[in-house]
Amino acid sequence: ALLVKDVHKSFGKHEVLRGVSLAAQKGDVVSIIGSSGSRKSTFLRCINFLEIPDRGTFQVNGEDVTFRVGRDGKCHPSNWRQIERLRSGLGMVFQSFNLWPHMTILQNVIEAPVHVLGIDRKTAIEKAEALLTKVGLYDKKDAYPAFLSGGQQQRASIARALCVDPSVMLFDEPTSALDPELVGEVLKVIRSLADEGRTMVMVTHEMKFARDVSTRVMFLHRGQVEEAGPPSQVFGAPISARCKEFVAAGS
Ligand code: ATP
Ligand code: MG
Repeated sequence: ALLVKDVHKSFGKHEVLRGVSLAAQKGDVVSIIGSSGSRKSTFLRCINFLEIPDRGTFQVNGEDVTFRVGRDGKCHPSNWRQIERLRSGLGMVFQSFNLWPHMTILQNVIEAPVHVLGIDRKTAIEKAEALLTKVGLYDKKDAYPAFLSGGQQQRASIARALCVDPSVMLFDEPTSALDPELVGEVLKVIRSLADEGRTMVMVTHEMKFARDVSTRVMFLHRGQVEEAGPPSQVFGAPISARCKEFVAAGS
């Protein structure tokens, strides 16, 4: 469902991504781990085109976009309109929940389906209510984000990302801004999505969780994939000494 090949990205002279690739087939849960500053977020942002890569090939649901550096030295996608289509196939959940503060939870969830996808309001509301029920927030649908706990806000952001029917969900440390007692309720929702066979890519520091739910784990080091494989390998018998040290420190 998601194929990303050979992504390169520099900020000025600083090359932060040095040829990172990732493949997530339908139903795969790919976890990206690595120490702070290993460029996990930058890579995830490139997948979603929040960051424009210098080089790389992207495919979501069979739609391709290739980036390459043109004669002007700047990066050009093969087709900007494709980027919009690719983006609409991806749902992103950030560390900071990013809900609109002036909208109720329900309004937040129906915003993109109604205003970006052009789905009629009634259909969007029905869908949003079903998703809010699924994440355990139906009774909070008319509340404003400020009245919700961090865990509730993050569950609302997950419902919001799901409401556009993304083929791949992207998570960037969805629990690391939460108080410890609220982490479990969010992981439970993510686990239920994994159990349903949702295709997901997540950056996480929750090692035990990643080991449990992932089909594949990637260990990034300085903008390169240092080790990748099934969780049993990456956590149980890593080949790379750096990866070994990292997982030993985290568990
Ligand atoms: P953490 O675990 O702390 O979230 P990370 O693995 O997500 O770290 P990134 O945030 O992707 O790491 O990238 C870290 C490095 O990339 C930064 O140290 C910085 O040097 C560089 N970087 C990221 N964004 C920019 C930017 N907009 N301009 C310049 N440099 C940037
Ligand atoms: Mg990060």
